[in-house]
Amino acid sequence: MTSSIPIATTIAPSLATEGATVELIGVVKDYGSHRALNSIDLSIKPGEFIALLGPSGCGKTTALRALSGLETVNGGRIVIDGVDVADVPTNKRDIGMVFQSYSLFPHMTSLENVEFGLRMRKVPADERRARALEALEMVGLGTFAERFAHQLSGGQQQRVALARALVTRPRVLLLDEPLSALDAKVRVSLRDEIRRIQTELGITTVFVTHDQEEALAVADRVAVMKDGVIEQIGTPEELYTTPATPFVADFVGLSNRVSAELSGGKVVVHGKKLDLLGAPQPDGPVTAYVRPEDIAIEGKGIPATVVASSFLGSLRRTQVVLDDGSLLSIQHDVDTRPQPGDAVFLRLKGAPVSAVPRTVNAPVSEVAVP
Ligand code: ADP
Ligand code: MG
Repeated sequence: MTSSIPIATTIAPSLATEGATVELIGVVKDYGSHRALNSIDLSIKPGEFIALLGPSGCGKTTALRALSGLETVNGGRIVIDGVDVADVPTNKRDIGMVFQSYSLFPHMTSLENVEFGLRMRKVPADERRARALEALEMVGLGTFAERFAHQLSGGQQQRVALARALVTRPRVLLLDEPLSALDAKVRVSLRDEIRRIQTELGITTVFVTHDQEEALAVADRVAVMKDGVIEQIGTPEELYTTPATPFVADFVGLSNRVSAELSGGKVVVHGKKLDLLGAPQPDGPVTAYVRPEDIAIEGKGIPATVVASSFLGSLRRTQVVLDDGSLLSIQHDVDTRPQPGDAVFLRLKGAPVSAVPRTVNAPVSEVAVP
């Protein structure tokens, strides 16, 4: 059980690092005729934790591989601590990497796996062993040094991979969906631990994920990617409350897609005028993205019938159907306990919304993420 492993409370001093600045300036990467990165600009501060968030195929792994030097780019510049690294090979870029699938050498123990990078750097055996043990202790696996990969759980293997990435004191840590093969509980505990270790070491970190909850939970700033482009970069709060594009509104957090009208620059949803987020748009029919917590169940307003209601601990989420047959998801306090079949009334609280022009076939009034 991963959760029973004692966690080191102080970080190995020999692993502390000076976080580097990392800049991607107009980075372009083509695979044949496919443009995987379409002029990526990203400026990362020393010690900052950036999440690259986006759906499968949007270019997240390509961006990490470009940063690490595993992939040569077709245009733009990658600058680490002020130095253009175009001609610097991967093993000289001072970067630690952790991948999605377990990548430990199967014929080596945990300790030997962690020692590997130090062996390559010709660090003497005594020092190598001491530093590798220190790194294993940092990830809570000090007593697992002699185990082979097949004797470790998935979460433990990823901890060893993290120790292996950090033992050489890299200036930058790159993590490519390191938690996606793990079960939900381990995912959350290891995610929090990665953040804790990263903060204590002060290492500049880029964490790739397609899981918006994960990105919002760990990162200082999140870069939302789509089709090789960064759509928006901001703090989790900024992305959630002021999404720059409908894609970001839809991808980050839960949203109801609601049929609405844009009129005089305002989004009119069920008769209520709401401010439009993002760039101005021409008037006309739109699909608006309304957050579940921006709708209230009240004594009067828009009539609806409760379909289902789930208790989620600190809040409740209730699905209702409107008279026009559209479904809405609402988030509210746990003291309101709607029952399936109840007739209720809804009020839009008035928060600004994102919207996209509505075409005939566009889906409306459905919950974007269950
Ligand atoms: P992500 O990590 O966000 O899922 P990737 O960076 O792996 O996305 O891939 C971005 C795009 O580039 C995808 O369309 C993918 O099919 C394509 N791609 C990735 N690697 C290669 C490659 N070696 N050769 C050709 N196309 C590739
Ligand atoms: Mg990927």
